[in-house]
Amino acid sequence: MLRLAIQKSGRLSEDSLNLIRECGISFISSTLKLKTESTNFPLEILFLRDDDIPGYVADGVADIGIVGENVLVEEGKQQLAVEKLGFSKCRLSLAVPKGASYDSVQDLDGKNIATSYPNLLQAYLQENGVTAQIHTISGSVEIAPSIGLADAICDIVSSGSTLISNGLREVERVFKSEAVLIANENLNAEKKQILEKLLFRIHSVQRAQKAKYILLNAPNESISEISALLPGVKSPTILPLAEEGWSSLHSVVNEDDFWEIIEKIKDAGAQGILVVPIEKMII
Ligand code: ATP
Ligand code: ZN
Repeated sequence: MLRLAIQKSGRLSEDSLNLIRECGISFISSTLKLKTESTNFPLEILFLRDDDIPGYVADGVADIGIVGENVLVEEGKQQLAVEKLGFSKCRLSLAVPKGASYDSVQDLDGKNIATSYPNLLQAYLQENGVTAQIHTISGSVEIAPSIGLADAICDIVSSGSTLISNGLREVERVFKSEAVLIANENLNAEKKQILEKLLFRIHSVQRAQKAKYILLNAPNESISEISALLPGVKSPTILPLAEEGWSSLHSVVNEDDFWEIIEKIKDAGAQGILVVPIEKMII
């Protein structure tokens, strides 16, 4: 039996539970329960506050856990990281009141900065040779400047709308974060084996999520150039269109790679590009 700790309720909870379910692991979840056991995989799930997860995994109370890298690194437990999971992407940023003059991070020298992440902030300031007063507060950091508690804040941002609605302007990105799977460093052989099985399933889920089916039309003379631009493609399917001299090209691409090359494909003559999800991918 492997014990997994996930956030009880918050921004990591839903995606963490979804990942486990997509791995084909069934369990009965109740918002009232703090612990549940899977009915078809040797996994027990503990529901905890995210800040407590790295400590519990380090101590072996839980064997593995899912937590934001921001919390993991803030708590100095990055050695527990197994791999990034690709969800709950956000960043820790410095922000100042909209009207405040700001040219560079040096302007924060001698200022008061409110944050819930004093260690990450201190490391960043030190790297940049800035000395500032750090006020550690546990929540509602974004109101600190308007109540006179601080000149700037350092807080989690995803879209930036919370900053804007509090009259703040993002000026520096301090740390990039996403959900990460962590594990105790001394798992026994049985637990290690269960973790390997779980990782195998996680990788299959991630592969299917990233892979997209791509269809596009192109003049015949561009087909070889476009094929060469599609990474990882050995042999795309090429079908003639009713219109003389044109073909339809079908292939599978990694979504991330696709965004990198879209302009080049278009410049090479691709038209009517469709990118559609793949439900299952057996390779
Ligand atoms: P808890 O009650 O468990 O202590 P919390 O209030 O500290 O929860 P949440 O706001 O639920 O934490 O955020 C949990 C994690 O989700 C953060 O540490 C961060 O990694 C990530 N996160 C936070 N805000 C966002 C966001 N706006 N978009 C995406 N991910 C985010
Ligand atoms: Zn928390």
